[in-house]
Amino acid sequence: MKQNHSQSSGAERLIPAERRLRVAEVRKTTPITPHMQRITLASTALMDFPARRPAQWVKLFVPTPESEKPNGRAYTIRHFREELCEMDIDFVLHGDGPCSNWAEAARPGDVVQIAGPRSGFRLDPEVTHLLIGGDETALPAIGAILEALPAGLGVNAFIEIPEDGDAQIIHSQADVEITWLPRSGWDAGTVTDLAAAMMMADMPDKTCEVWFGAAATVVRTVRHHFQVNRAMPRHRLTMSGYWKKGETDFRDAEGDQ
Ligand SMILES: Cc1cc2nc3c(=O)[nH]c(=O)nc-3n(C[C@H](O)[C@H](O)[C@H](O)COP(=O)(O)OP(=O)(O)OC[C@H]3O[C@@H](n4cnc5c(N)ncnc54)[C@H](O)[C@@H]3O)c2cc1C
Repeated sequence: MKQNHSQSSGAERLIPAERRLRVAEVRKTTPITPHMQRITLASTALMDFPARRPAQWVKLFVPTPESEKPNGRAYTIRHFREELCEMDIDFVLHGDGPCSNWAEAARPGDVVQIAGPRSGFRLDPEVTHLLIGGDETALPAIGAILEALPAGLGVNAFIEIPEDGDAQIIHSQADVEITWLPRSGWDAGTVTDLAAAMMMADMPDKTCEVWFGAAATVVRTVRHHFQVNRAMPRHRLTMSGYWKKGETDFRDAEGDQ
């Protein structure tokens, strides 16, 4: 039988699962630390949600009072409970954007749209040491990654947070040493301690991998250091700018996520 190639079949027209927009509602809001609000989203639309790896992220669309068009931003899946059709997303309350403001005021029953999941962390079995770091926007991803790591892996984690009280308890089977770097009053994206800690970190003479997410300018410095000064192979580096001062919905064109 002759096929008409200008028409796609029903199967071809199916939207891939990670591109589908799913409506979910707020089931619970939980203040985690002074600058982090956990929102538990639930929906039967999450029944076949293909979350498989730690630190996968979604595009989250929240409604805004001023416009009908929802604002889409990248957020990490902190936990996904398939059996309950629930996911937790931890929002940094930075006080200056539709998503941060929405999370601060969210109430059970509020509705959002979710597209994803995308990316996620996969540990190369050859790797014996992980250097991981980021600011508070990457803390949900770092937490999810640390919780999923196997015993026997050596890990150094450097995490910048707004203040001491924003540190979290994170469990891991791996041999993890976390250094919290509170900004103690300085604005996000203006201090150099995180970049310095990453760049001075010991990389044991083993097979190492580096994962890093933070403000775009900080990521650029750290990326340059590992690519050029330490000449690390590209496939052992995962680095992404998570936000940029003065830009809404920032996308890191050089990012790995
Ligand atoms: C892969 C990925 C995963 C991410 N996961 C998370 C996550 O799990 N939790 C989370 O909170 N964020 C996460 N982020 C960062 C988040 O997408 C951005 O912070 C986003 O800009 C927040 O949207 P908004 O509507 O609040 O602010 P926007 O409208 O995007 O920005 C408004 C203003 O706020 C500034 N701004 C944005 N973020 C911050 C910040 N953190 N601190 C200070 N100023 C800021 C902007 O520069 C801009 O001037 C992730 C980003 C990426 C790329």
